[in-house]
Amino acid sequence: MKIILSILIIISLQMCSQIKQPENPKTMENFTTKNNPYYSRTDRTKLSVPNSEWKKILSPDLYAVAREADTERPFTGKYNKFDELGEYYCAVCGNHLFRSDSKFSSTCGWPSFFEADKEGVAYNRDTKYGMERIEVVCKRCDSHLGHVFNDGPPPTGTRYCMNSVSLEFVGDSEKK
Ligand SMILES: [Zn+2]
Repeated sequence: MKIILSILIIISLQMCSQIKQPENPKTMENFTTKNNPYYSRTDRTKLSVPNSEWKKILSPDLYAVAREADTERPFTGKYNKFDELGEYYCAVCGNHLFRSDSKFSSTCGWPSFFEADKEGVAYNRDTKYGMERIEVVCKRCDSHLGHVFNDGPPPTGTRYCMNSVSLEFVGDSEKK
């Protein structure tokens, strides 16, 4: 009898934990981060994850930009008109990319920065669409972030033109 009782207790406990499990993801970003074993804001070890794996983890919008170098439509991104103080991380892997101090209001329709975290980004030559551009990628996971141009404001004269979907903002007030 005792055994049956304890089995019943175990079953009911399991049922409780099953009910509790889906913590009602409010946004796609949280959903992505929670189910992403590669996401870390402190580990800068280079990742080598195939696209077939990223496709299972990332939202379709993020996958298209980050892994297929798609560009979000101008003036639609969540960080285009956004000036809170904090840090910007790679939405794919959590690598630190920008500080809000280097963000400036650009009229181009995408969030723009005049300086990047040197340990956060890497560059590739991009000649797609008959243009000569420099692609900016995350140094840790190689995800596409946007492009960099030399028409930015002082002090650097550089403009990092980024896709909002590739970025994850953490405000200074949210830091623990
Ligand atoms: Zn990354």
